[in-house]
Amino acid sequence: MRVLGIEGTAWCASAALYDAEADSVLIESDPYEPDSGGIHPREAAEHMSEAIPGVVDAVLTAAEDEHGPDAIDAVAFSKGPGLGPCLRTVGTAARSLAGALDVPLVGVNHMVAHLEIGRHQSGFENPVCLNASGANAHLLGYHDGRYRVLGETMDAGVGNAIDKFTRHVGWDHPGGPKVEAAARRYAEEHSGDLLDLPYVVKGMDFSFSGISSAANDAYDDGVPVEKICFSLQEHVFAMLTEVSERALSLTGADEIVLGGGVAQNDRLREMLASMCAERGARFHAPEPRFLRDNAGMIAVLGAKMARAGDTVPIPESAIDPNFRPDQVPVTWRSGESV
Ligand code: ATP
Repeated sequence: MRVLGIEGTAWCASAALYDAEADSVLIESDPYEPDSGGIHPREAAEHMSEAIPGVVDAVLTAAEDEHGPDAIDAVAFSKGPGLGPCLRTVGTAARSLAGALDVPLVGVNHMVAHLEIGRHQSGFENPVCLNASGANAHLLGYHDGRYRVLGETMDAGVGNAIDKFTRHVGWDHPGGPKVEAAARRYAEEHSGDLLDLPYVVKGMDFSFSGISSAANDAYDDGVPVEKICFSLQEHVFAMLTEVSERALSLTGADEIVLGGGVAQNDRLREMLASMCAERGARFHAPEPRFLRDNAGMIAVLGAKMARAGDTVPIPESAIDPNFRPDQVPVTWRSGESV
């Protein structure tokens, strides 16, 4: 089976071809890069409508050059969660393409795709998943036909919380990689000298709004920015590691997969890997191209869903900006063969 996936929940216009027999993924992405500030929804939507035709055309051409006119068996698209105007563009593109190619359409939950790409690559059977992305942050575990939300942020997504600080400092979007670089420089020169910031964990839920504001205040008070970056990372990632360990402990799982754009951060991966090593659990983080928003993960989950017959008629294929992962009936886990 070969599936063409289209992703466009916010900033990344992306198309991919997943060839299930070869287990190979070709991804073409065209990111929106704001001139200043963060992601502006109207500009992101304009970018999406300009960029989607180009990335889809590149992938479709590559697929048809290699496999002929019947190269595509299904079209999968990111149905949500995300920015409504971006999702509508992607939904329209996917419907038109599925109609023109006369193949089934698959509506994929973007957050479940972040999880499933890690499970697909690792071969883990029943992991806890930590999704650490821009607009979201949650822990998922599978039970009785659904991915249940074990814990989640009570306010901002983890990447957005970090980007809020970098916007305050005047750094370009995305802020996460700049915070990582500054924190690394600070750690090399001042090991262990940590600024005290709010640390909010309640069971397996957590909150980032207080820490973003406290980081902004520290910057206004003249604390060196590299020290704030280091302290911000240490606190935020310790919170995520603590709740991940609690989820492993309470579910009895011994595997964890990481997903989302913030998972590109070496320090987060190091903390989680060390926690897992201490308790004898296995840990998997996908390669960066599958962590940030990308159509590869949409195509891979789309293939599993299509194989399970979980396709959607065009009149019922509306997007859902608030699509939660626990709304998705998991149709593809029994008799997995993709
Ligand atoms: P979602 O998947 O929830 O829709 P999103 O659309 O914002 O999120 P992602 O690609 O998952 O997109 O994540 C983008 C976020 O990842 C941004 O907030 C960015 O700052 C952050 N990020 C990217 N690289 C790093 C890094 N090395 N360290 C920390 N954060 C990072």
